[in-house]
Amino acid sequence: MTEITLYNTAKRRDETLKPLKDGEVSLYLCGPTVYDRAHLGNARPAVVFDVLYRLLQHTYPDRQIKYVRNITDVDDKINETARARKAAGDPRSVEDLIAERTEETVGWYREDMAALGNLSPWQEPRATAYIPQMVEMIEALIAKGAAYEAEGHVLFNVDAYEHYGQLSGRSTDDMIAGARVEVAPYKKNPMDFVLWKPSDAETPGWESPWGRGRPGWHIECSAMSKALLGERFDIHGGGIDLQFPHHENEIAQSKCLCGEDSFANIWMHNEMLQVEGKKMSKSLGNFFTVRDLLDKGVPGEVIRYVFLMTHYAKPMDWTEEKARQAEAALRKWGALTEGIEPSATAASVEDALADDLNTPAALSALHALASAGDLAGLKGSARMLGLLADEFGQWREVDIDTSSQIEALLAARIDAREAKDFVRADAIRDAFVAAGVEVKDSAEGTTWSLKAGFDPSKLEDVL
Ligand code: AMP
Ligand code: ZN
Repeated sequence: MTEITLYNTAKRRDETLKPLKDGEVSLYLCGPTVYDRAHLGNARPAVVFDVLYRLLQHTYPDRQIKYVRNITDVDDKINETARARKAAGDPRSVEDLIAERTEETVGWYREDMAALGNLSPWQEPRATAYIPQMVEMIEALIAKGAAYEAEGHVLFNVDAYEHYGQLSGRSTDDMIAGARVEVAPYKKNPMDFVLWKPSDAETPGWESPWGRGRPGWHIECSAMSKALLGERFDIHGGGIDLQFPHHENEIAQSKCLCGEDSFANIWMHNEMLQVEGKKMSKSLGNFFTVRDLLDKGVPGEVIRYVFLMTHYAKPMDWTEEKARQAEAALRKWGALTEGIEPSATAASVEDALADDLNTPAALSALHALASAGDLAGLKGSARMLGLLADEFGQWREVDIDTSSQIEALLAARIDAREAKDFVRADAIRDAFVAAGVEVKDSAEGTTWSLKAGFDPSKLEDVL
């Protein structure tokens, strides 16, 4: 069996994965906080750990791969979106608005991650379904003297955990500066963090020994991983931005309760995504969601390929140039492997992935298979990376320029209707019919497909 080597960020060295329990391999990834569409950076951990999930399934066919990616559905950002809507005049209760927002966002997240070729995890637990387990953990931490109640809050006392800061390798001063810790007079140590906080009547809350309130974010992951994977599990993943304070706090809570040997055996952190060399941010105007890109006509498979071009532990840059390269490679492979039965994954690809998920080397190995004319191997091995799957086949029938033209015309049609320019709206509709673009409008949005004999030149008059 191939040995899988992973860089353990907790130990700062490569380690051979040795599953802890018989019959399973367990992986926990901190998932999304569901208050808005996933931005492109949020998709990076989902793709990275999906590749790991696939590699584990392939390497350990006789074990159950317990891949947990949680959903944080209790968070002040969610509450804020609901309050803002209420303030804007929505007559519904904050509770109903929160429920609607989280449902909607969970649906979007699943849809967008599936569009990138990610498999569904084994479990996607929601924090709100594990409140009793969190309360129980907090009670046990208080009983151990590691947590204390103060002014309706329960705080974890970082002095109770001697290795606090070890994961991220930070000194107390760095941590205080980095965490922008909320200085509160009731904290014993300024680094102490919230396990439970009180909720007012307008905020979601659960009854607890400390009154009606809600959990802090960190305890959610400690409780959900313990409930689903046990006190010890193989791998914990997430973005490097979560290493401190989130993962540091998860470790402190869990290890204080279950012992120094408990919790994750290997920690893996993906680096951040940038856009055209700059941090993605709303103020720079380079912030976009996965859905924005898909709607612009960039296929999910192309986005996935671009992600795989960079090793997960290095910062990655999203550029249009890379998207073009990815499109060209996938188009070529798609044409080469059409109608070909995939064979087993090539050893070159497997070895690259087993070497700390070296996806750029795996892509090079795929190019080598294509050059060598091993098309069955190319198709089978690409699938191990989530590429060349049957469901991705369709986008290759139309080039990205054409699909962005169609998307632009759909947007122009909406604008024309809103401006009551029905002449323009009808002209666009007629051009779609003439060109052979079938447009379907539904409550979920507008989709389009190309009919046989599609003729893009018929779109030119209305462009
Ligand atoms: P959040 O919903 O903000 O908790 O983030 C969900 C996941 O997205 C976390 O694992 C973050 O580490 C990850 N993430 C956020 N921004 C980026 C980025 N720019 N690049 C890569 N990963 C990111
Ligand atoms: Zn977490």
